[in-house]
Parts: sequence; structure tokens; C-alpha cells
Amino acid sequence: MTTTHHRIVIIGAGTAGIAVAARLNSHGEKDIAIVDPSTKHYYQPLWTLVGGGRANAGSTERNQSSLIPKHVTWIQDAAAGFRPEERLVDLASGDSVGYDALVVCPGIQLDFDQLPGSKEALGKDGVSTNYRFELAPKTWDFIRETTKGTAVFTMPSGPIKCAGAPQKIAYLAADYWRKQGVLKDINMVLVLPTPGMFGVPEFASVLEQVVDRYGIDVRFKSEVTELDSDAKEVMIKDLDSGEQSSLGYDFVHVVPPQSAPDWIKASPLSVPGEAKGWVDIDKNTMQHVRYPEVFALGDAGSSPNSKTGAAIRKQAPVVVQNVIDLLKGNGITRHYDGYASCPIVTSQNRMLLAEFDYTMRPHKTVPLIDTQKERYDMWLLKKYGLPFMYWNVLMKGRGMTTPGAFAS
Ligand SMILES: Cc1cc2nc3c(=O)[nH]c(=O)nc-3n(C[C@H](O)[C@H](O)[C@H](O)COP(=O)(O)OP(=O)(O)OC[C@H]3O[C@@H](n4cnc5c(N)ncnc54)[C@H](O)[C@@H]3O)c2cc1C
Repeated sequence: MTTTHHRIVIIGAGTAGIAVAARLNSHGEKDIAIVDPSTKHYYQPLWTLVGGGRANAGSTERNQSSLIPKHVTWIQDAAAGFRPEERLVDLASGDSVGYDALVVCPGIQLDFDQLPGSKEALGKDGVSTNYRFELAPKTWDFIRETTKGTAVFTMPSGPIKCAGAPQKIAYLAADYWRKQGVLKDINMVLVLPTPGMFGVPEFASVLEQVVDRYGIDVRFKSEVTELDSDAKEVMIKDLDSGEQSSLGYDFVHVVPPQSAPDWIKASPLSVPGEAKGWVDIDKNTMQHVRYPEVFALGDAGSSPNSKTGAAIRKQAPVVVQNVIDLLKGNGITRHYDGYASCPIVTSQNRMLLAEFDYTMRPHKTVPLIDTQKERYDMWLLKKYGLPFMYWNVLMKGRGMTTPGAFAS
């Protein structure tokens, strides 16, 4: 068991970890280590299009080694715990690594075990999810195989990554079934825990027209609580009355409940007494509320923004500058305003760009065009523009201070 030391240690080499490492690197920081056991990195926003038959799964995967910036040490191990008083991270191998500043971004945990029956059903008999790389292509297989019956699209209560993804796949499927002439034979049911289609009224009103157009039966303030793959039924709970009812299905797109990874929950860095276990940070500075040399961003942080790559694009420059200032002994001055965007695909070739911040008001960054309606040019942005920007701008630590939605 060995203990090494680096000036800056980053936990997780996903969207947030690589964006921060690349940007710190370009600021001339020489002693950075990034901890991640995975040899692969994924551009997850495209998994929606994979499930909808509009993109190839292979294009979303790259070798981690091709993304970790030169001069950054890759510790290919899993973080397992923190000793913040000693400024140490414990690793699964038994080794530990010390730091002057720590950036925590290991992503979110998919809690399929909180949705009984789902784990064993996935990938078989019409049950799939776009939330896992290897299953997104199965979603598309099952959509193509479905020509009649009931199709259920689920969304759990509580924060999840890309809260728009549970409904985007419903619209892609509906548009495909419409083109095949079978939409009229399919009872589409979208089960949402929320009281409306979206938290920002301007976007909700567009989405209300979309569900009407496809004839989707939206069950608001409801949640799928169990899946019985033998009976081909889901249990749906009315969140107001607590009443449960069953619904037979031919196809289900499952989105599981989500939380911080269990080892984060159990660590001294999590929000005390909060079951989801997010890393306890100030929502503007992204600095830990009890350990000043610790920062977090991305899906694992407690900041109440929409958990998206788009948010990370705005968080990363704040974290990087605040880490640099902290190490120089200066005050922490950079603030994140909660910006996030959700590119909501509403058909096989249309998209609405929902941009907002902590105020939950529209926060438009694309000039000249009206991005608050369904558009073909926005669809091209989603399919081609955003992936290009992800690999060539965000992952290279470039261009993150200029305005714009080109995050994910
Ligand atoms: C279906 C789907 C659609 C989406 N659509 C959009 C969209 O349209 N727009 C958008 O902006 N966002 C979208 N997102 C969300 C976006 O992908 C995430 O918000 C973003 O990737 C989060 O980045 P992150 O760095 O926090 O976590 P991740 O990118 O998930 O990376 C976490 C990293 O931590 C590593 N890790 C895990 N455990 C450990 C450990 N113990 N020790 C060390 N490393 C560890 C993992 O291997 C991984 O590399 C979508 C996500 C999904 C699943």
C-alpha cells in the first residue's frame, strides 16, 4: 500500500473530470492526477439518439487514454473513501493519494434496485433503457419490433441526469411509429413525477403541444414503482393519493431512480442527513461547505441545477479558477449561476433547446434564432454540432467562458 501526493487530484474522468483536467492543464498546472478505473469514456447525450435509431452507439465511446491530457497522471483505480482532515483519498486497491486541492466528480449512480423487477428485465422482452451504453441499441430494436399494444415511458422522482431524456425517447418513438403508420395502434403512456411537462412554463407549453400531437397519455404526479416481466405489467403509483394501479405493457423504456455513488453517501463529504448523498457544495462557488480545499461539479454535486453536460460546461471554468485562486492563497471569486440546457428532441428531425438557470427562467444564449420552438437546425446541432463541440472543445478545456449552449 503506497501513498502518493499531487497538487490537484480529480476523482472521475467523465465529462466534468476531463473538462477540468484539460482546462487546469492549459492554465499551466503541472501536477494533476485523475483517478478513474474505466478505460472507456462516453458521450452520453447521444444515447437518446441511439435508442431512437438516429445514431450509432460506437460513436459515443472513446478510449479514456485518448482524452486524458498529456502531463496529467492517470491513476487507474477507483476512489473508495475520503479522509478530508488528512487531505487523503483512499483507493480500492488499498493505496491512497494526497492533495492540496481535490475535485470530486464521479458521476451519478443508477439505482435499478430501487425499481423492483427492472434489473432482471432489462434487455429482454421489450424492456430497455437509454441510461446504459450497451442497452440503448436494444431500445431501438424494441421500438422497431413494437407495432401495437402499450408502450410505457418512465421517469423517477428525485434528481436524475438529463431530466429531459425520459420524454425525448417517447417523442422519437412516437414519430417513428407515426411514420410506420402504427402510432394509432399503440397506447403511449408517459409516467412523470412532476405536475407539468417541464419546470419552465415557456418550454412546458411547447411540450404540451408535442404530447397532444402524438396522442400520448401523460400521467402527471405518478411514478412506476415495480416491473413484473412475467406478467408484463408495471405498477404505477399516484404520488398524491398513494394509490397503485397496474398497467400491461408491450414495450417499456425504464429510467431508474438515481443518487450519488454509495461510497460518496457514506463519506464525510456528503450532505449530512440527506438520503441522496450528494457532495455538499456551495451552489455558486462549487466549493465544499466544510472542507475549503475540496470542490465538486457534475452529477455528483449537491448544486440544484439540472444535471447535464451543459451545466458542466459552465461549472468547469468556475471550479478551475477557484482551485487556482485557492492554491495561490487568493479569495474565491468565481460564481456559477445554475445555467443548464436541455436539447429536447421532439421528433426524428426536430429539437427545442431549453436553456435556463437557478431562477428557472429561460436563459437564452444562442443569438438571432428562436430556439424556444421545435426546429430542424437545432436537430442538426444535436446530432452533429454538439458531439463535435464536446470532443473538440469541452474535452480539450477550450471555449468554456464564452456564452453559448454548445455543451453537450
Ligand atoms: C440518456 C442520457 C441522455 C443525456 N442527454 C443529455 C443532453 O442532451 N445534454 C446534456 O447536457 N447532458 C445529457 N446527459 C447528461 C450528461 O451525460 C451527464 O450530466 C454528464 O455526463 C455528467 O458528467 P459527470 O462527469 O458528472 O459524470 P460522468 O460523465 O458520468 O463521469 C463519471 C466518471 O467517474 C468515473 N467513476 C465512477 N466511480 C468512480 C470511482 N469510484 N472512482 C473514480 N472514478 C469513478 C466513471 O468511470 C466516469 O468516467 C444525458 C445522460 C444520459 C444518460
